[in-house]
Amino acid sequence: MFEMSAQSKGGRHIRQWLEDNNVRTRGDKTIPLSMIYRMLGSTFYYGEFEYPKKSGKWYQGNHPPLIDKKLFTKVKKQLKVPQKSKWGAKEFPFRRLLTCGSCGSVIVGEEKFKKLKDGSKRRHVYYQCSKKKDYDCKERYAKEVDIVEVLLAMKENLLMPTKDLEPGLRKDLKKQVEIMKLTDESITDDKAAPIYIEYALRKGSDFEKTRLVRNLDTKLVLSDKRLERDYSYGQTSNRK
Ligand SMILES: [Zn+2]
Repeated sequence: MFEMSAQSKGGRHIRQWLEDNNVRTRGDKTIPLSMIYRMLGSTFYYGEFEYPKKSGKWYQGNHPPLIDKKLFTKVKKQLKVPQKSKWGAKEFPFRRLLTCGSCGSVIVGEEKFKKLKDGSKRRHVYYQCSKKKDYDCKERYAKEVDIVEVLLAMKENLLMPTKDLEPGLRKDLKKQVEIMKLTDESITDDKAAPIYIEYALRKGSDFEKTRLVRNLDTKLVLSDKRLERDYSYGQTSNRK
Protein backbone atom coordinates (compact mmCIF):
# COMPACT_ATOMS: atom_id res chain seq x y z
CA MET A 1 0.00 0.00 0.00
CA PHE A 2 2.78 2.43 0.89
CA GLU A 3 4.63 1.62 -2.31
CA MET A 4 1.51 2.17 -4.40
CA SER A 5 0.75 5.44 -2.69
CA ALA A 6 4.34 6.62 -3.23
CA GLN A 7 3.78 5.90 -6.93
CA SER A 8 0.83 8.32 -6.94
CA LYS A 9 -1.87 5.68 -6.75
CA GLY A 10 -4.94 7.05 -5.02
CA GLY A 11 -6.88 5.50 -2.16
CA ARG A 12 -9.53 4.10 -4.48
CA HIS A 13 -6.97 2.23 -6.52
CA ILE A 14 -5.44 0.79 -3.35
CA ARG A 15 -8.88 -0.18 -2.06
CA GLN A 16 -9.66 -2.07 -5.24
CA TRP A 17 -6.28 -3.77 -5.11
CA LEU A 18 -6.92 -4.89 -1.51
CA GLU A 19 -10.36 -6.19 -2.45
CA ASP A 20 -8.86 -7.96 -5.41
CA ASN A 21 -6.37 -9.70 -3.16
CA ASN A 22 -8.95 -10.64 -0.52
CA VAL A 23 -7.46 -8.44 2.15
CA ARG A 24 -10.20 -7.83 4.70
CA THR A 25 -10.69 -6.43 8.18
CA ARG A 26 -10.68 -8.65 11.24
CA GLY A 27 -14.46 -8.56 11.08
CA ASP A 28 -14.24 -9.93 7.51
CA LYS A 29 -15.35 -6.67 5.88
CA THR A 30 -13.78 -4.88 2.95
CA ILE A 31 -11.24 -2.24 3.95
CA PRO A 32 -12.82 1.23 3.90
CA LEU A 33 -11.01 4.22 2.39
CA SER A 34 -10.80 5.92 5.77
CA MET A 35 -8.83 2.96 7.15
CA ILE A 36 -6.47 3.03 4.18
CA TYR A 37 -5.65 6.69 4.80
CA ARG A 38 -5.32 6.06 8.53
CA MET A 39 -2.85 3.25 7.90
CA LEU A 40 -0.85 5.32 5.40
CA GLY A 41 -0.50 8.00 8.05
CA SER A 42 0.55 5.69 10.84
CA THR A 43 4.19 5.85 11.94
CA PHE A 44 3.79 2.42 13.49
CA TYR A 45 4.67 0.74 10.18
CA TYR A 46 8.21 2.04 10.18
CA GLY A 47 8.65 1.24 13.83
CA GLU A 48 7.85 4.35 15.88
CA PHE A 49 4.87 5.22 18.01
CA GLU A 50 3.80 8.05 20.27
CA TYR A 51 2.49 7.26 23.73
CA PRO A 52 0.28 8.68 25.04
CA LYS A 53 -1.03 10.14 21.78
CA LYS A 54 -0.08 13.79 21.17
CA SER A 55 2.26 13.71 24.17
CA GLY A 56 5.36 14.19 22.03
CA LYS A 57 6.90 11.09 23.62
CA TRP A 58 8.06 8.75 20.91
CA TYR A 59 9.14 5.18 21.27
CA GLN A 60 10.80 2.66 19.07
CA GLY A 61 8.61 -0.43 18.82
CA ASN A 62 10.30 -3.80 19.11
CA HIS A 63 8.45 -5.18 16.09
CA PRO A 64 10.36 -5.45 12.81
CA PRO A 65 9.36 -2.42 10.69
CA LEU A 66 7.37 -3.18 7.52
CA ILE A 67 8.59 -0.11 5.66
CA ASP A 68 11.41 2.38 6.10
CA LYS A 69 10.97 5.96 7.17
CA LYS A 70 11.98 7.25 3.73
CA LEU A 71 8.99 5.57 2.11
CA PHE A 72 6.71 6.81 4.88
CA THR A 73 7.87 10.40 4.35
CA LYS A 74 7.37 10.09 0.61
CA VAL A 75 3.80 8.89 1.12
CA LYS A 76 3.12 11.66 3.61
CA LYS A 77 4.18 14.27 1.05
CA GLN A 78 2.16 12.51 -1.63
CA LEU A 79 -1.00 12.57 0.48
CA LYS A 80 -0.70 16.31 1.03
CA VAL A 81 -1.02 17.08 -2.67
CA PRO A 82 -4.68 17.50 -3.62
CA GLN A 83 -5.51 14.40 -5.63
CA LYS A 84 -7.56 16.06 -8.33
CA SER A 85 -5.26 18.83 -9.43
CA LYS A 86 -2.19 16.65 -9.51
CA TRP A 87 -1.63 14.94 -12.83
CA GLY A 88 0.31 12.22 -11.08
CA ALA A 89 -2.98 11.00 -9.66
CA LYS A 90 -4.08 9.99 -13.12
CA GLU A 91 -3.52 6.46 -14.07
CA PHE A 92 -0.80 5.69 -16.58
CA PRO A 93 -0.95 1.90 -16.67
CA PHE A 94 2.18 1.37 -18.78
CA ARG A 95 4.50 3.67 -16.93
CA ARG A 96 6.29 1.00 -14.97
CA LEU A 97 6.54 -1.26 -17.95
CA LEU A 98 8.92 1.07 -19.73
CA THR A 99 12.38 2.46 -19.22
CA CYS A 100 14.30 4.86 -21.41
CA GLY A 101 16.77 2.97 -23.58
CA SER A 102 18.90 6.05 -24.17
CA CYS A 103 19.63 7.06 -20.60
CA GLY A 104 17.97 4.45 -18.36
CA SER A 105 15.59 6.88 -16.64
CA VAL A 106 12.09 5.98 -15.57
CA ILE A 107 9.23 6.99 -17.83
CA VAL A 108 6.42 9.43 -17.16
CA GLY A 109 2.96 9.53 -18.67
CA GLU A 110 1.14 12.51 -20.07
CA GLU A 111 -2.28 13.06 -21.58
CA LYS A 112 -3.32 15.53 -24.21
CA PHE A 113 -6.71 16.41 -25.56
CA LYS A 114 -7.14 17.15 -29.22
CA LYS A 115 -10.17 19.01 -30.40
CA LEU A 116 -12.07 17.33 -33.17
CA LYS A 117 -13.99 19.10 -35.92
CA ASP A 118 -17.33 18.35 -34.31
CA GLY A 119 -16.19 20.12 -31.14
CA SER A 120 -15.63 16.99 -29.08
CA LYS A 121 -12.25 16.10 -27.63
CA ARG A 122 -10.14 13.03 -28.04
CA ARG A 123 -7.71 11.90 -25.38
CA HIS A 124 -4.17 10.91 -26.36
CA VAL A 125 -1.75 9.37 -23.91
CA TYR A 126 2.02 9.54 -24.29
CA TYR A 127 4.90 8.12 -22.34
CA GLN A 128 8.28 9.75 -22.30
CA CYS A 129 11.65 9.82 -20.60
CA SER A 130 11.59 11.56 -17.21
CA LYS A 131 15.18 12.77 -17.88
CA LYS A 132 16.05 12.00 -14.29
CA LYS A 133 19.37 10.46 -15.29
CA ASP A 134 20.18 12.62 -18.28
CA TYR A 135 18.73 16.07 -18.42
CA ASP A 136 19.43 16.34 -22.14
CA CYS A 137 18.06 12.94 -23.13
CA LYS A 138 16.70 13.10 -26.67
CA GLU A 139 14.62 9.94 -26.57
CA ARG A 140 11.26 10.34 -28.28
CA TYR A 141 7.94 9.65 -26.63
CA ALA A 142 5.83 6.54 -27.22
CA LYS A 143 2.11 6.64 -27.82
CA GLU A 144 -0.01 4.48 -25.58
CA VAL A 145 -1.78 3.00 -28.61
CA ASP A 146 1.60 1.80 -29.94
CA ILE A 147 2.55 0.25 -26.61
CA VAL A 148 -0.73 -1.65 -26.66
CA GLU A 149 0.02 -2.96 -30.17
CA VAL A 150 3.51 -4.11 -29.15
CA LEU A 151 2.08 -5.96 -26.16
CA LEU A 152 -0.67 -7.50 -28.27
CA ALA A 153 1.94 -8.87 -30.64
CA MET A 154 3.50 -10.64 -27.64
CA LYS A 155 0.23 -11.74 -26.07
CA GLU A 156 0.91 -15.47 -26.53
CA ASN A 157 3.72 -15.45 -24.00
CA LEU A 158 3.14 -12.53 -21.72
CA LEU A 159 1.49 -14.47 -18.91
CA MET A 160 2.53 -17.93 -17.91
CA PRO A 161 -0.43 -19.75 -16.35
CA THR A 162 1.88 -21.48 -13.90
CA LYS A 163 3.20 -18.19 -12.60
CA ASP A 164 2.52 -16.76 -9.21
CA LEU A 165 -0.17 -14.22 -10.11
CA GLU A 166 -2.20 -11.90 -7.93
CA PRO A 167 -5.41 -13.65 -6.78
CA GLY A 168 -7.69 -11.13 -8.51
CA LEU A 169 -6.00 -11.60 -11.86
CA ARG A 170 -5.93 -15.35 -11.39
CA LYS A 171 -9.65 -15.29 -10.71
CA ASP A 172 -10.36 -13.29 -13.87
CA LEU A 173 -8.23 -15.64 -15.96
CA LYS A 174 -10.14 -18.58 -14.56
CA LYS A 175 -13.40 -16.91 -15.43
CA GLN A 176 -12.10 -16.41 -18.94
CA VAL A 177 -11.43 -20.14 -19.25
CA GLU A 178 -14.95 -20.94 -18.02
CA ILE A 179 -16.49 -18.57 -20.56
CA MET A 180 -14.51 -20.11 -23.39
CA LYS A 181 -15.40 -23.62 -22.26
CA LEU A 182 -19.04 -22.83 -22.93
CA THR A 183 -18.36 -23.09 -26.62
CA ASP A 184 -15.32 -25.35 -26.62
CA GLU A 185 -14.78 -27.86 -23.84
CA SER A 186 -11.24 -28.66 -24.90
CA ILE A 187 -10.00 -25.14 -24.05
CA THR A 188 -7.00 -25.09 -21.73
CA ASP A 189 -5.70 -22.34 -19.44
CA ASP A 190 -2.92 -21.29 -21.78
CA LYS A 191 -5.47 -20.57 -24.53
CA ALA A 192 -7.40 -18.19 -22.31
CA ALA A 193 -4.51 -15.97 -21.24
CA PRO A 194 -3.89 -14.28 -24.63
CA ILE A 195 -7.61 -13.54 -24.99
CA TYR A 196 -7.79 -12.09 -21.54
CA ILE A 197 -4.73 -9.96 -22.33
CA GLU A 198 -6.38 -8.66 -25.47
CA TYR A 199 -9.53 -7.83 -23.51
CA ALA A 200 -7.61 -6.04 -20.74
CA LEU A 201 -5.45 -4.03 -23.14
CA ARG A 202 -8.22 -3.02 -25.50
CA LYS A 203 -11.31 -2.80 -23.32
CA GLY A 204 -10.16 -3.13 -19.73
CA SER A 205 -10.39 -0.46 -17.04
CA ASP A 206 -7.26 1.39 -15.94
CA PHE A 207 -7.24 -0.83 -12.90
CA GLU A 208 -7.26 -3.99 -15.03
CA LYS A 209 -4.50 -2.65 -17.26
CA THR A 210 -2.33 -1.65 -14.32
CA ARG A 211 -2.89 -5.01 -12.67
CA LEU A 212 -1.95 -6.84 -15.84
CA VAL A 213 1.24 -4.80 -16.24
CA ARG A 214 2.15 -5.45 -12.60
CA ASN A 215 1.96 -9.18 -13.19
CA LEU A 216 3.90 -9.33 -16.44
CA ASP A 217 7.36 -10.77 -16.51
CA THR A 218 8.29 -8.44 -19.32
CA LYS A 219 9.59 -4.92 -19.49
CA LEU A 220 9.93 -2.71 -22.54
CA VAL A 221 12.68 -0.32 -23.49
CA LEU A 222 11.92 2.84 -25.39
CA SER A 223 14.83 3.11 -27.74
CA ASP A 224 15.26 5.14 -30.91
CA LYS A 225 11.51 5.67 -31.18
CA ARG A 226 11.03 1.94 -31.03
CA LEU A 227 9.68 -0.24 -28.28
CA GLU A 228 11.68 -3.34 -27.59
CA ARG A 229 11.48 -6.12 -25.12
CA ASP A 230 13.96 -5.68 -22.30
CA TYR A 231 15.85 -8.95 -22.32
CA SER A 232 17.95 -8.00 -19.34
CA TYR A 233 14.79 -8.19 -17.27
CA GLY A 234 13.17 -11.37 -16.06
CA GLN A 235 15.97 -13.90 -16.22
CA THR A 236 17.15 -13.32 -12.72
CA SER A 237 14.08 -11.59 -11.37
CA ASN A 238 12.40 -13.16 -8.44
CA ARG A 239 9.19 -11.28 -8.19
CA LYS A 240 6.95 -11.99 -5.22
ZN1 LIG B 1 16.16 9.14 -21.43
